[in-house]
Amino acid sequence: AAELDTLAEMTAAKCTAPLTFEDRPSAQETLRAFRAESHILEASVYDRSGRIFASYTRAGHATTLPASPPPPGRYFESDALALSERIRLDGEVVGSIYLRSDLEKVHSRLRRSGAIMFFVTLAACLLAFLLSSRLQRVVSEPIEHLSQTARLVSFGHNFSVRAHKINEDELGLLTDAFNEMLEQIQERDAELARHGEHLEEQVSIRTAELVAMNGELTAARDKAEESGRLKSEFLANMSHEIRTPMNGMIGMTQLALDTDLTPEQRDYLETAQNSAEFLLRVINDILDFSKIEAGKLALDPIDFDLQACVGETVKTLALRAHQKRIELLCRFAPDIPPALVADPDRLRQILVNLVGNAIKFTHKGEVLVSIDVESRQRNSIVLHFQVADTGIGISRDKQEHIFEAFMQADGSSTRRYGGTGLGLAISTQLVSMMGGRIWVESEPGQGSVFHFTASFGISRQEATPEPAGRPKDAPLRGISVLVVDDNGTNRKILKETLSRWGMLPVLAEDAAAAFEALHVRRDQGGRFPLILLDAQMPGVDGFALARKIKEDPDLTASAVMMLSSSDLHEDARRCRELGIASYLVKPINQVELQQAILKTLGATAQPDLSSLAPAIGSGPDHHAASPAVRVLLAEDNLVNQKLMTHILKKKGYAVTLASDGLQALDAYQRQPFDLVLMDVQMPEMGGFEVTRIIRELEAPAGGHLPIIALTAHAMKGDRERCLEAGMDDYLSKPIQAAALFETMDRLLQTPAIR
Ligand code: ADP
Repeated sequence: AAELDTLAEMTAAKCTAPLTFEDRPSAQETLRAFRAESHILEASVYDRSGRIFASYTRAGHATTLPASPPPPGRYFESDALALSERIRLDGEVVGSIYLRSDLEKVHSRLRRSGAIMFFVTLAACLLAFLLSSRLQRVVSEPIEHLSQTARLVSFGHNFSVRAHKINEDELGLLTDAFNEMLEQIQERDAELARHGEHLEEQVSIRTAELVAMNGELTAARDKAEESGRLKSEFLANMSHEIRTPMNGMIGMTQLALDTDLTPEQRDYLETAQNSAEFLLRVINDILDFSKIEAGKLALDPIDFDLQACVGETVKTLALRAHQKRIELLCRFAPDIPPALVADPDRLRQILVNLVGNAIKFTHKGEVLVSIDVESRQRNSIVLHFQVADTGIGISRDKQEHIFEAFMQADGSSTRRYGGTGLGLAISTQLVSMMGGRIWVESEPGQGSVFHFTASFGISRQEATPEPAGRPKDAPLRGISVLVVDDNGTNRKILKETLSRWGMLPVLAEDAAAAFEALHVRRDQGGRFPLILLDAQMPGVDGFALARKIKEDPDLTASAVMMLSSSDLHEDARRCRELGIASYLVKPINQVELQQAILKTLGATAQPDLSSLAPAIGSGPDHHAASPAVRVLLAEDNLVNQKLMTHILKKKGYAVTLASDGLQALDAYQRQPFDLVLMDVQMPEMGGFEVTRIIRELEAPAGGHLPIIALTAHAMKGDRERCLEAGMDDYLSKPIQAAALFETMDRLLQTPAIR
């Protein structure tokens, strides 16, 4: 288009003059010059008036020239480009020019540019290809190699392969790093494997060590079991060794005390006896505790009378209480069956401990043992025992600890009160063996109540669950009785007991109240057939009151019974002087009381009370035996020989002594005996062996000689072994006189039918 502009301008310049001078031929000539420009299809010059002045048409081209000049400008047609231009001279339009060119030139130029473009692109591609193939060698190949190596490592878990370094460039560095990483992994692998091996080795060493240790432990356990067995054997022997001399000490001291002594000698001996008894208690505690620890202590349940058992037990502690001027009281709920099944010795042990503690830690007031029924099944019963005192009490934080072994509420009190701290620990074990539990309620300064429960069987002999003494109630029914006692608890117990028998008790707390009651009754025209007096009362005591009653002519008809806390000869004498019918020592056993009341009132139908209270009233004269009873005493220990002989002779028994088993057998064959006391451990021939032979010898004639074993072991199983050997009963040393006579009496009364 620019070229066409230039052509038009040049032509217009050349035609200015011809136009001005209307020189057509020169204009024509100028146009003819277009023959050299092959792409100009046609051209024309118009004069001032717009008529064609000169024209040119390319040869062979059909003219399409417009008749008048088109307005100035460019015109694009499908295959040509046209240009119209004004021709000016000095700014004045003198004519117009019109050119029309084909596009052949444009096309050919386009074609040329395309070709150039094509070749340039081709050259660029070629260059890129060359470059990339070179780069392929330098970059891709090492990366491909690296990835192959990585695949090999990851699939084959082979860390020993290495990538080859191709060049010293960045990829070379990468390969190095990769190889280094493999190296490290391989090293770590090797280390791990080494550790694994080491671990196995260590495990096997440890296993061996453990096996060895196990063996040692088993051996140690066996040894411990063996030493446990030896310990209990040692205990059995110790108990024998300790009890035998203790028996001698206590018995001999007792014998010495029965002789005429100066007050000083009596004091010494009594102190010696107290110390010996205390030592025996401590030893028994320690032995019991060890036996419980060793699991060697077992209960030995038999039929027994609970009231008698508790009454007797409490009575053994009465002296201690009375010396401290403490009231010791017992109360039984009326619904307790009289014959129960349990281990009375162990029950006694618990009571002795609790009541003993109560007395020990009380300085003023009273100790009350009460027993109630907690629950009852057809064949068993759970009883709730309470031992309440008005003593020093136990602070709350100490209460749970005192049941542990060797624990005492107050370390400093130990010296003041004495004791081992074992009593409650043993009681706790025994109570739990008896199916119960033990606990305490206490307020410091107010006193303590120790509670425990225990399960008992109900004896099958108890066909009719009727309380003992019921058939004997009839003679006492409706009889009025005046009870004078300053102790409220005791009054309550007596009232409950007397009412149970149908009696009509009236209570008085001191002499004045008693006199008032007596006078009121007299004024009503009646009287009290029986008056129960407490000996120790503040102000006017029982004796003074009894004297006053005796002196009052209106009241002489009443029978007076004295209940005393201290079993003193002096008191008994004063009672006789005052004409007091009966004198009972507290705590009063119900059966004993009933018996005494019946006797005092001269009840006509004297029932068989002895069967009710087999073990009660073991006073000095109670057991006088008939002189005909012949006893064979087989015992090797000299002290025991002396002691037993003395005790037996004093009771009127005829004693024959044998120092060993053979002598015993010899004596048995030479003369008849009513009973044998047989030590189990004797030289020459033991007690079991002798018993077996005696049983064999007497078998043809059909007799049965009662034999009582005397053992020092007090270990579980002794009783069974004695009975198995053909003995009738057994007593463990130190022998208590009361228990000895009770057992002897029982066996001598039992007809010899077996
Ligand atoms: P011991 O009486 O031989 O010391 P126990 O096991 O029988 O051992 O008693 C442990 C402690 O419990 C006693 O030392 C005493 O501190 C306390 N204790 C027991 N009974 C009573 C009681 N009735 N009143 C006050 N403290 C008591």
